[in-house]
Amino acid sequence: MQLAGEEPETLNAILITHEHSDHVNGVAVTARKLGIPVYFTEGTHQAWARWIAPRKQMTYAQWMEQMRLQAAAREAEADANHESEANEDDLIGPSDGGQLSHPFRKERGMDGAPACQDSETGSVLEIAAAAESADEPAKKKDPAALPAVEYFKAGEPFDLGDIRVNPFTIPHDAADPVGFVFEAEGVRMAFATDLGYVPPNVKAQLTNLDLLLLEANHDLEMLRDGPYPWAVKQRVLSRVGHLSNEAAASFLEKDYDGHAAHIILAHLSESNNLPELAQVAAEGALSARASLLANRLLLASQHDPLSSLYF
Ligand SMILES: [Zn+2]
Ligand SMILES: [Zn+2]
Repeated sequence: MQLAGEEPETLNAILITHEHSDHVNGVAVTARKLGIPVYFTEGTHQAWARWIAPRKQMTYAQWMEQMRLQAAAREAEADANHESEANEDDLIGPSDGGQLSHPFRKERGMDGAPACQDSETGSVLEIAAAAESADEPAKKKDPAALPAVEYFKAGEPFDLGDIRVNPFTIPHDAADPVGFVFEAEGVRMAFATDLGYVPPNVKAQLTNLDLLLLEANHDLEMLRDGPYPWAVKQRVLSRVGHLSNEAAASFLEKDYDGHAAHIILAHLSESNNLPELAQVAAEGALSARASLLANRLLLASQHDPLSSLYF
């Protein structure tokens, strides 16, 4: 953001596509520092929480032991205070009503995706909320704690400020991965990376766009001859892996409606692709539609932002 001349403090929310580390690294620290909500699908949130705080996974016996210790601690406190009602504040669970602080909605009057109300699966949320309200230093260290969590579902559009967000399911080996179409002031932009292939539901979303950001992950030959272990190569190539230059080009040639002013090729592998190869493949696919006004091709780099001059 600094390289692009943007201030993180201007962010209102963080949207997560899926829990792979190249998409979530630093999200908790960033969200806490900025005090903004993070939007996930429920499956992605749970997978992320398990990934970031694996210590939360415990056996039933360990869980029982923890419950016993917590009960003993509450009892001891009640004895000390002679005030058993106060204990209710210490309970972590449905008693808090699942009401998380939500600075975004409160301050900006937003009506976002439905808030998490799942008392059974919301343990991380509840611990996060308890840490904020109860002011307990031990709980504040929870790496999965977030200022606020909002759940959305693929196929159910929601509004973030004046941006309409359409999340759609993508075929990828994560818990509940999505791509996004964003609409604001009559401009439509799609974000589609990390997909093994382009299924009909994604094709349906990638229409009538002003800007298309599409994955061109690898060159098939480079991947085949490249450094990845065989199993990883199989994963990347699979129907839930990543879109090759060839597959992206095939989409652009056969299925894309040619509407976008700009097409950004993104999520290029540094081991198994070269920007030139991705570009040549896409240019070939778009050659019939070459125009000064539409389908300008740009390549996203892992280390430098695209210049806003392009837009
Ligand atoms: Zn991924
Ligand atoms: Zn990725």
